[in-house]
Amino acid sequence: MTRQLSASTLKKLRRRLEADQQELQETIDEHLQDLEEARLAQASGERSADPASTETGSAATVFESELSVVRNSRELLGRVEDALNRLDSGTYGLCVTCGKPIPAARLDVLPYTTQCVECAAKR
Ligand SMILES: [Zn+2]
Repeated sequence: MTRQLSASTLKKLRRRLEADQQELQETIDEHLQDLEEARLAQASGERSADPASTETGSAATVFESELSVVRNSRELLGRVEDALNRLDSGTYGLCVTCGKPIPAARLDVLPYTTQCVECAAKR
């Protein structure tokens, strides 16, 4: 079996992915807490006499931005976990579209990528 990535490179990438996984989980937890606070602020805002008040508007804005951070982090976490699964199954580093090895330099920039540069550009 031809292996494009050396064992030490794979080990290094796994460590980075595991660190990313932990960091993303912490970010999600943190923002879920902010989200809950924003939700409560929004709920109390809705009870006020003027629903179009700037206070209500800003609570909704905070809610939206927190929600998008959580969504983005969850999506990224999914990709990181997927990459860790592929590391375990030995398919890591191969393009999911064409099956060719993804250059180590690209994996170094995007450790969770599933496509080579050519296939990613075609999307
Ligand atoms: Zn490809």
